[in-house]
Amino acid sequence: MVSEICQKLYRRDINRCSDEEIYIALLHLVKREAKKKEVPPSEEKKKLYYISAEFLIGRLIGNNLINLGLWNEVRKELRIKGKSLASILEREPEPSLGNGGLGRLAACFLDSIATLGLPGDGVGICYHEGLFYQKFKRNRQMEYPNAWREKRSVLGRSVKKFPVHFGGFTVSAVMYDILITGYENRTNRLHLFDLDSTDPTIIEKGISFDKANVRKNLTLFLYPDDSDDAGRLLRVYQQYFMVSAGAQLILDEAKERGSNLHDLADYVAIQINDTHPSMVIPELIRLLTAEGIEWEEATKIVTDICAYTNHTILAEALEKWPVKFVKKVAPQLIPIIRRLDDDVKNKFDKNELAIIDEENRIHMAKMDMHYGHSINGVAALHTEILKTSELKDFYEIYPEKFNNKTNGITFRRWLMECNRPLTHLLDEVIGTGYKKDPTELEKLKSHINEDRTLKKILEIKRKKKLELVYYLRHAMRLDVDPGSIFDIQVKRLHEYKRQQLNCLYVIRKYLEIKRGKQPQRKITVIFGAKAAPAYTIAKDIIHLILCLQKLIEKDKEVRPYLQVIMLENYNVTLAERVIPACDISEQISLASQEASGTGNMKFMLNGAVTLGTEDGANVEIHELVGDDNIYIFGEDSQTVIDRYARGDYRSLDYYEKNPVLKECVDFIVCKRMLKIGDKKYLGRLYNELLSKDWFMTFPDFDSYCHAREKAYADYENRRAWASKMLMNIAMAGFFSSDRTIEEYNRDIWHLN
Ligand SMILES: *Cc1c(COP(=O)(O)O)cnc(C)c1O
Repeated sequence: MVSEICQKLYRRDINRCSDEEIYIALLHLVKREAKKKEVPPSEEKKKLYYISAEFLIGRLIGNNLINLGLWNEVRKELRIKGKSLASILEREPEPSLGNGGLGRLAACFLDSIATLGLPGDGVGICYHEGLFYQKFKRNRQMEYPNAWREKRSVLGRSVKKFPVHFGGFTVSAVMYDILITGYENRTNRLHLFDLDSTDPTIIEKGISFDKANVRKNLTLFLYPDDSDDAGRLLRVYQQYFMVSAGAQLILDEAKERGSNLHDLADYVAIQINDTHPSMVIPELIRLLTAEGIEWEEATKIVTDICAYTNHTILAEALEKWPVKFVKKVAPQLIPIIRRLDDDVKNKFDKNELAIIDEENRIHMAKMDMHYGHSINGVAALHTEILKTSELKDFYEIYPEKFNNKTNGITFRRWLMECNRPLTHLLDEVIGTGYKKDPTELEKLKSHINEDRTLKKILEIKRKKKLELVYYLRHAMRLDVDPGSIFDIQVKRLHEYKRQQLNCLYVIRKYLEIKRGKQPQRKITVIFGAKAAPAYTIAKDIIHLILCLQKLIEKDKEVRPYLQVIMLENYNVTLAERVIPACDISEQISLASQEASGTGNMKFMLNGAVTLGTEDGANVEIHELVGDDNIYIFGEDSQTVIDRYARGDYRSLDYYEKNPVLKECVDFIVCKRMLKIGDKKYLGRLYNELLSKDWFMTFPDFDSYCHAREKAYADYENRRAWASKMLMNIAMAGFFSSDRTIEEYNRDIWHLN
């Protein structure tokens, strides 16, 4: 297979090709094989478009080889020629097209849509430099362009172009495509729009650039710094660019499949991933009315097609754009949005329901909820909170639109690709049926008393820990003890996710060890997280973690019992290395704040035990595995929501009443820390905790420490721990994104 391509490309045998050359050959191979599985438009009717500002797809060649059923064959062929598939796959750049869970969800969904054989493509933006590349210098996060497109990759340029009319000028959106293979099924596409005039040479120091030069900066970065108006305006340009090109593509393709536009809802379903693509609604109405369809009919068609997914209850994340921004970017949308708003105001006499508020801001989510037919949350608890508090006014008028779709992850990447030994064990113990029907993982439960299976599960964890240790030594020059407990928190850095709470525990442990109370076994606390460039406190928390890492590294008394590691540039590739090696999965967001989480699911599937709050999908994990196989702590979401409503939380009360907590908080600005860190940053974080602590770490501190100690103590009974691991793996089937997508299709899209 690969031989023949190498011959054609280089006129040489594989064993005389470099890894780089074989990488290119593999690109050819997967493209060729994936294309064979595309379905011609003439054979389809209704098709889904998943529109999202982010697709955190990760490397794709390995995933494609698995999905196309070529992995074993290719690996064998290369091995015979003295080449390692694993090291060749390392050559692939990771597309930098997302920032965290929301983008990763979109990627898992594309995999599952194709795997279920459904017609559905992704629509997004082809950012040149992605989010940013993170490095640490002087214990601070530094941001650099992530030039992933400089290298040949799975990205291919198509011939399609669409004009996008901005206020005062028009640009041409060029379409790039990435082939999305299903597991033993069809191939779909991810369409990404770009602008040929985008110019990375305008990037100055770090990731700063001229925010006003739209022709040159439009597709440079994902979420450019929005701390000023120029940055915020640029986001609106990006969003309109994406939906305008996307809407034209959707209408062209629907016509090609036979739609006369009046029947568009029989041909198209659109899922709006969070509020970033919301302008697709007025844009489609504009295009349909321009084709001669009456206003009422056009709005009905668009409402029947569009569905909205809410990802957060954090108010600052629900986008509201000033009318003047949209007027500048896409003046043609203003009369449409105003008329939609008038229709709403005529129908409902309630300020909270209006699309345009008294301050002349357009509420994107409200437009989605009025002019879409479905509103879904992403975990059971999250959807309930939407109905009863955040979106209560909308639930009252549109109860039938609300539904829950608990998130999921693709098992191809998060089990079969990243944990081959565990996949083999499962194949052997329960057969391979779980790959198509993930609920079959439950068969594992009947093996819970088998010594051999439990021993194997522990051996596999040990193997994956050794692999991570090896990687950390060679790639990051870190020495880690594989016999220690790997306690891991990897996710975006945000105060609500509460990496700061984890730090307070680390400080407590440090102080205990200093006083001679040593843990039974060494603990390795691993963090990985990027902070948004303009998010000051998040960057201060990174500073705190890095200072703790240094402090403990240098301390001969503490070093044998405790280690802290902050991984640079956490991304999908790193996640695939870290997650299979995890013993304890930290999912410690403030109850009510994490919509779902998907990291929690990846860890569970790989046999980590969760230490977490009753938040997001943790609630459902808890229900599935039972009290004995998860460590739950902290106040519940209702208590938190009530406290926010009363507005009477005072962190100082907890600080003053709890001497252990006080000592840990004070440690942040103690002499030892200030010798390593910067007083400005550590002091700012200390003050933030004492004066605000908006995400309520102090009330949960005691119960968190208690649960964590209990988990560490239980870890010492290795057999009992192995059975906890087994239960987590066995019950993870519910969190397959194949299940999630089946539900979306059954309740919202109605494809096939
Ligand atoms: C899964 C994933 C996330 C989401 O993690 P959460 O813990 O759910 O926030 C973020 N980043 C990467 C790289 C991931 O793979």
